[in-house]
Amino acid sequence: MSEKFDVVIIGGGPAGLTAGIYAGRAGKKAAVFERETIGGQITFTDSIDNYPGTPGISGAEYAMKLKDQAEQFGTEVIMDEVLSVEKPAEEGGAFVIKATEDTYQASAVILATGLSSRHMGVPGEEKLIGKGISFCAVCDGMFFRGKDVAVYGGGNTALEDAIYLTQLANSVTIIHRRDRFRGEDTLVRQLKAKENVKFCMNSTVTGVSGDPLLQSVEITDKVTGEKKELKVNGLFVAIGKIPNGEAFRGLAEEDEKGYYLSGEDCLTGTPGLFVAGDGRDKAVNQLTTAVSDGAIAGTAACNYVDRLSGNEYV
Ligand SMILES: Cc1cc2nc3c(=O)[nH]c(=O)nc-3n(C[C@H](O)[C@H](O)[C@H](O)COP(=O)(O)OP(=O)(O)OC[C@H]3O[C@@H](n4cnc5c(N)ncnc54)[C@H](O)[C@@H]3O)c2cc1C
Repeated sequence: MSEKFDVVIIGGGPAGLTAGIYAGRAGKKAAVFERETIGGQITFTDSIDNYPGTPGISGAEYAMKLKDQAEQFGTEVIMDEVLSVEKPAEEGGAFVIKATEDTYQASAVILATGLSSRHMGVPGEEKLIGKGISFCAVCDGMFFRGKDVAVYGGGNTALEDAIYLTQLANSVTIIHRRDRFRGEDTLVRQLKAKENVKFCMNSTVTGVSGDPLLQSVEITDKVTGEKKELKVNGLFVAIGKIPNGEAFRGLAEEDEKGYYLSGEDCLTGTPGLFVAGDGRDKAVNQLTTAVSDGAIAGTAACNYVDRLSGNEYV
């Protein structure tokens, strides 16, 4: 007989762990499943400057605090990937959650599966991931101490990555397909003040080469069509994110890009199924909105479980 939880939360990022805190604190038997890194995307930053009340805390430290807090309230954190979720045959029945190690049941499920980094889709990319191509400057930057690196992208993540890497690398070239950055002006100003940064605007990465390690990046000028080769040891790709819900297609309603469709109430069309965090279709993907979703979805899931047992939660 598979273990039965009141609430199963899929995704151990800020949204999922916050839902775990709320469910545990409400006395529910709850579990958070995480397939990769506790804390999700926030572990990619070395300093969180805009989360109210904790200026400057590192993403990794913040993630561990969330995990400890969830566990203190009795929520289990299970390091395993959830492969599928089956809806109950009838309302009030149990969801069946299949992970790689085991199968579980739950009265309520929260999808807090977040986002992953978008790949460039250029020849040579896949075989050089981890061999010079990285999606996380904070995780891998130290391997490029004193070396020449490039950052590809123009949003906040790319700018933060580039600023961080200027402290480690010999030189940082930031490659962006437009003539101005999409990210915040304050980050652009910080980056421009660095001495070892070069800007390669109106340009796209059209190829990468090196064997076994990355040696150069092919850059194409979008205006002139001219191609040039940039010799680098590292390329940090920050060109956007894609939702992680591929295993749960058809479970909750999604938009054409794969973001779960739900209002601020985090409800789906299926009783007992909730969504939370960056994987939900919304305007602002930040910690504040992720933990807000976690609190709302966690509370709604507990209310649902209490309604099933005739024991309304207030
Ligand atoms: C480089 C970087 C810097 C950032 N800096 C800031 C900042 O300074 N301030 C700020 O407010 N925000 C920042 N953000 C944004 C913030 O990290 C996100 O908004 C937040 O992490 C979203 O939380 P989430 O829980 O919704 O999703 P995620 O953090 O994406 O977590 C989702 C988790 O679900 C897991 N998962 C997915 N599918 C499965 C499955 N099938 N089974 C098990 N686990 C699964 C994933 O492995 C992941 O750990 C930053 C993001 C990045 C990338």
